[in-house]
Amino acid sequence: MKALQYVSIGQPPEVREVPTPEPGPGEVRLRITAAGACHSDSFVMGLSEEEYAAFGYPLPMTLGHEGVGVVDSLGEGATGVQVGDAVAVYGPRGCGRCHSCAQGFENYCPHAAGMGITPPGLGSDGAMAEYLIVSDPRLLVPIGELDPVKSVALTDAGLTPYHAIKGSLELLVPGSVAVVIGVGGLGHIAVQLLRSLTAATVIALDINEDKLDFAREVGAHHAFLSDGDAASKIAEAVGAGPVTAVFDFVTNEPVLKIIRSLSGPRTDLVLVGAGSVETSVGLLGQPFGSRIRAPYWGARPELIEVVELARTGQLDVETEQFSLDQGPEAYRKLHDGELRGRAVVVP
Ligand code: NAD
Ligand code: ZN
Repeated sequence: MKALQYVSIGQPPEVREVPTPEPGPGEVRLRITAAGACHSDSFVMGLSEEEYAAFGYPLPMTLGHEGVGVVDSLGEGATGVQVGDAVAVYGPRGCGRCHSCAQGFENYCPHAAGMGITPPGLGSDGAMAEYLIVSDPRLLVPIGELDPVKSVALTDAGLTPYHAIKGSLELLVPGSVAVVIGVGGLGHIAVQLLRSLTAATVIALDINEDKLDFAREVGAHHAFLSDGDAASKIAEAVGAGPVTAVFDFVTNEPVLKIIRSLSGPRTDLVLVGAGSVETSVGLLGQPFGSRIRAPYWGARPELIEVVELARTGQLDVETEQFSLDQGPEAYRKLHDGELRGRAVVVP
């Protein structure tokens, strides 16, 4: 089969012919109908040899941690799904047995790393291929009649902001203000989620003017350039004073500076981007009662909830479609900030 693989560090991914995998005992093989390209893949492919070694992902590795497909073949003893079912893949799998996993928070399983359990496309072969092996049917969420291209990004670009926003819901009451930084694959869904789940005034920031129009189209009340004037523009629009929550889909020093200028008592600072920043924490290091969180992906039941939002028409993912052969070009556009919404590869 054909697969889009990361082969050599620092080089663009390549379309290669690889053996079609067979499902082992308990496993499920999907015929992939769509796979999404995430900035996290771009981040991983931008690491130096030394940095990449710290992740320990084997190469070559088939990319793609967002996948939907049709159940194509069942390994011995695999039950719960049937050949022909249309399903989305829950990526951040855990051991499946511990307290965290029992609550659905497989994304926070403390045993996964030690057991060598990695998500597809981030440590094991991913969905940018004609077929994908999924280790357990519990990781598959039925999508029914949903369009694969429109729904594949729900598995990460939908699930991740959903999980991030859910953690702040009790603060996002009428009169609250939520700021979304970075209106890309995740951010444009975050804006929609904030509009459908909360009564907050939603403000989007991006460095690209086109993304500001895009943010308004998907429901932002206001959209401003992400620069030194952002805080005063926001104060003009909604009044002076701290915002209620910031959902940061970038996470770098310039963005942290903006976040700090918007924050005050009880502000939620939710850092979702793959970067890391230096910041002071503690009673005298951050505004009183503020919370800094670094959420990772989302819980298994939350993926079911996000799929339900799409099914009921409360979420619409903007996509640009590519073939597997065009996969390297999809990642180039993602890297260069030229996409509107999510790049989706259809094998
Ligand atoms: P994307 O490339 O689709 O979108 C990024 C957006 O940020 C673009 O619109 C870009 O113009 C904008 N941007 C860049 N610099 C900016 C700045 N200084 N201020 C404001 N906007 C800026 O990326 P994506 O796939 O949506 O991913 C967003 C981030 O989230 C990435 O860092 C990714 O690695 C991370 N991520 C984290 C998780 C998690 O579990 N925490 C999951 C998925 C992705
Ligand atoms: Zn991702």
